[in-house]
Order: sequence, then C-alpha cells, then structure tokens
Amino acid sequence: MPIATRAFAAVAADRPLEPYSFERRDPGPDDVAIDVKFCGVCHSDLHVAHNDLGNTRYPIVPGHEVAGVVSAVGANVTKFKVGDRVGVGCMVDSCRTCAPCREGEEQYCVPGMTQTYGSADPKGGPVNQTITQGGYSDHITVDQNYVLSIPDSIPLDAAAPLLCAGITTYSPLKHWKIGPGSRVAVVGLGGLGHMAVKQAAAMGAEVTVISTSDRKKADAERMGAKHFLINTDKAAMAAAAESFNLIINTVSATHEIAGQVQLLAKDGTMVMLGLTTEGLPVYAMGLLWRRRSVAGSLIGGIRETQEMLDFCAANAIACDVEVIAPDRINEAYERMGKSDVRYRFVLDMARL
Ligand SMILES: [Zn+2]
Ligand SMILES: [Zn+2]
Repeated sequence: MPIATRAFAAVAADRPLEPYSFERRDPGPDDVAIDVKFCGVCHSDLHVAHNDLGNTRYPIVPGHEVAGVVSAVGANVTKFKVGDRVGVGCMVDSCRTCAPCREGEEQYCVPGMTQTYGSADPKGGPVNQTITQGGYSDHITVDQNYVLSIPDSIPLDAAAPLLCAGITTYSPLKHWKIGPGSRVAVVGLGGLGHMAVKQAAAMGAEVTVISTSDRKKADAERMGAKHFLINTDKAAMAAAAESFNLIINTVSATHEIAGQVQLLAKDGTMVMLGLTTEGLPVYAMGLLWRRRSVAGSLIGGIRETQEMLDFCAANAIACDVEVIAPDRINEAYERMGKSDVRYRFVLDMARL
C-alpha cells in the first residue's frame, strides 16, 4: 500500500509554499519507511523553491535534514528496525559503482547522486511522480543504505540539521586534518558556521569567527570560539594576517574573498561551502606567495555522515534550533533571507 503523505510544497517560483498531499512508495525489499518527526530548513531549500538555479520542477517538497522514526522495513533490511531513530540527509541514492561511490564519497558520484528532493528517482519516486520529494512531509521511504542512525543522546529536533549543515562542515574539517594546534577561522555564523565552530572546537582547534558585526559574539564564544573578528575592522584583520590553517567560508552571497586569503598561513586553505552563483575574484599573487589554496567541499558520504553523528553525540554537540509549525515555513524563508535565525529553523511535522 502506498503511504498517504501530507507535506508543504512549492508550486511555483513566485508563490508561497502550500499544503500538498501525495503518496510515498510502499517500502520495497531494501527500503525503510520513516515517520518524519522534524525537518531542518536549509538555505538550498529556499533556492530550489524560488527556482534560483533555473532547474526546479514543480510541485516540489523541499527538505533534506530529516529526522524521524522507522515505521516499517523491507524484507532485506538488516540495518534498521521499527522504532529506530533515523535521519536522511541530502541524498537518497547514487550509482554505487563509480570510484567515489566505492570509496564511500557518494556525494561526488560521477553520474550524480539522487538528491533527496528534485532528482529523477531511479525507484520511480513517490507514486505517480518521477522526481524525489523531500522532508517537509510526514513520511518518507528511503533505501537502507542511505539512512543514518541518530544517537539516543541527541534530541531529534536538534539532530535534523546535522544531516546537511553538520556534515557540510564536518567533512572539510576532517579532510584538512583539523585537530589540536590547528587554527581555524569560520566566516559567517549561521546554520553552517555555528556547526563549524562547535565541531572545530571539539576537535581541539583554536577557533576564530569572522563576521560583519559583533551581534553574535557572545554566541560564538559560548559555542567554543576563542576569538571574534569583524571584517571591517582593518587593524584587527591586518593583525590576523597569515594566521589560519583553514578558513571555513559559509557565506552564500557574493562577497570579497581576496582579503580573506591573506589571513591564511603557509599551506593554508580556504574552503567555500556557500552556494554562490557568481564568480569570486581571487588573485594568484595572494595564493602562490604562501602556497595557499582555495577549495570547495560538498556535504559528505554516508559513512562519514554516520561518523559525524557519532562524533557530535560523543562531544555533546547539536544544532541550535528554532522549532516551528510547518505552516510558518514562508515566514521562516523570509527571516532566513535576512539571516534572522539562531541558528536553524526546524519544522515540527507533528504540527502539520
Ligand atoms: Zn542543505
Ligand atoms: Zn556513483
């Protein structure tokens, strides 16, 4: 029996999200059916709902920070049982045969991962649909290999944003081998930035937040930052030159980065996590003089996402969330556009 599902969907770029009903597929042999309890609201949801990338197919149910409880499992499912606390992040499948998939980095799947919403669905998708639909919904059916286990110590609402924001920051911190003695700067203290601060501090790094004002200074310190830099403070920025091993840049708007490159120590890297659609000027002179790099990073693989959840549990880390009823999603988008959230909106699907 297909699963009757209630949701909030975007139906056009210029219309607010609205209630929407559809059917999820009945769990196949390898599937896990999940009662969605909470879904985080990511900046990419807003981009897709508004068709900012020009490829949105409507109606679309956004949401890729899904936390819930298993309601049914298929015959081949060994990893999960009914009642387990589980999560789903940005992908629900991938080709499983290309080199990145075999290496556990399915997010870089060569033919392309199946994203949790808006992708062509090899399993036929929700009944009568050919594209995947996301977590602003009360049910979701996902292959067991793309489902995560949420440790008991993390409340489901505060766990939900770990599935995108939490892994997006954790993966580069691990890739660039951050640990005791590392100096890490985090540009922008939002949904991503606040996770980067907590995780980098828990890894033993000395963390600096770089922001446009001191509005969030007390929060940054509470999260583990040792220093706070205001990017318009020329003297403070000059004093910080050549001091960081890694800069986690979470800003999703077009902004000046050449000056930030000057803050990198020799062999330092600035990793870009924000989805900017315009070019960002960077100068060879600023890079070669200290063998610096500017890099990008996209979420993390399934194995690493589980590692991140376990790391957050072991270090008592979760997201700072503002839990809202799903019918306030349009107001949440408006406030996100003004960075007016500390630090992630989460939809409470029980209030659907
Ligand atoms: Zn996201
Ligand atoms: Zn692949």
